[in-house]
Amino acid sequence: MTPDIQSKLPQVGTTIFTVMSALAVKHNAINLGQGFPDFPMNPKLTSLVNETMQSGYNQYVHMCGLPALRERLAEKVNEDYNTHVNPETEITLTPGGTYAIYTAFTSILQPGDEVILFEPAYDSYIPNIEINGGVAIRIPLEFPDYSINWELVKSKVNSKTKAIIINTPHNPTGSVLTQEDIAQLRSIVEGTNIFIISDEVYEHLIFDNKEHLSILRYPDLKARSFVCFSFGKVYHCTGWKMGYCIAPESMMKEFRKVHQFNCFTCNSPVQFALAEFLKDKNQYRELGSFLQKKRDYFKSLMAQTPFKPLPSFGSYFQLYDYSGFSNESENDLAIRLTQEAGVATIPVSAFYKTPVDNKVLRFCFAKKEETLEAAVERLVKFF
Ligand code: GLN
Repeated sequence: MTPDIQSKLPQVGTTIFTVMSALAVKHNAINLGQGFPDFPMNPKLTSLVNETMQSGYNQYVHMCGLPALRERLAEKVNEDYNTHVNPETEITLTPGGTYAIYTAFTSILQPGDEVILFEPAYDSYIPNIEINGGVAIRIPLEFPDYSINWELVKSKVNSKTKAIIINTPHNPTGSVLTQEDIAQLRSIVEGTNIFIISDEVYEHLIFDNKEHLSILRYPDLKARSFVCFSFGKVYHCTGWKMGYCIAPESMMKEFRKVHQFNCFTCNSPVQFALAEFLKDKNQYRELGSFLQKKRDYFKSLMAQTPFKPLPSFGSYFQLYDYSGFSNESENDLAIRLTQEAGVATIPVSAFYKTPVDNKVLRFCFAKKEETLEAAVERLVKFF
């Protein structure tokens, strides 16, 4: 007899990305749902991995990540964000950004601790908090620009507030934090013991000459933050599941305690290859304009459909409003579009614990031009 598990996540089903990708496969739909590029990554980087494997770099590297890679990363963030990060004590390589966020929560949360987050929220945050006995304090972003109501944040802060999680550029909405947001955050946490978890996996996917306001730029905020990054988003290799976390030494020490007994250390050949590849600092400089062109091209194609774009200032994603032509729920429309039009998207209601239905779907535009063209052609036929 198989024993019953008393679930730690009784309300959690399968992540929407897996659900929609499976539905896309089933109906042979073009997948603009789950966020991943369909264009090739830099062949130099794949060759480097191949070379490192062939040369025998296939055994465990240091538990916190290959030292040479941590050094490259420290140089990168120090230059990009005018900061000073110690590669030995403040950076840990992780199997992806999501894992870094999970590990950060696991390092700090005690049962009953509250974490403030903003909805729509990336779908792993709340389960990460709850599995660690924490309580998610959900604050809705203001529709339709998805800005933060800081007065509401202030009203939710109390002695149980352990952390605030922010995400810029934001998944799923493509909004980005402004200087004013940073100022508000600073004034709220100043003099408190509140940690910040900063999900910055889309750091370089930022458009319209906006600057990425990394938490690392602000020494007072950096001193209380786990800042989480992703190689997958920067080098077009989401399937490699490689990322890293930066935090002050005392916080990183706890993070590493959790990490060492979970994953212990990440894939070695990929780290050797990245350490070499990152010597060329220009690899990601054009990323913002590259994806901005895709956003704009997709938007120009989508003008043939009744979908109305909401602004996207960063990430892989743009939200489209369909309230002008349908009353269906986001979920129903996303399923119907996959089945009948052959285009998969993500209903934004999936990013709320209690679904909020603003009649918007998330489209991933990090695709080849021909993929975007074929998807919109299918949508045009559908209408
Ligand atoms: N981050 C990706 C997205 O938002 C998906 C990652 C995943 O499937 N877990 O689409």
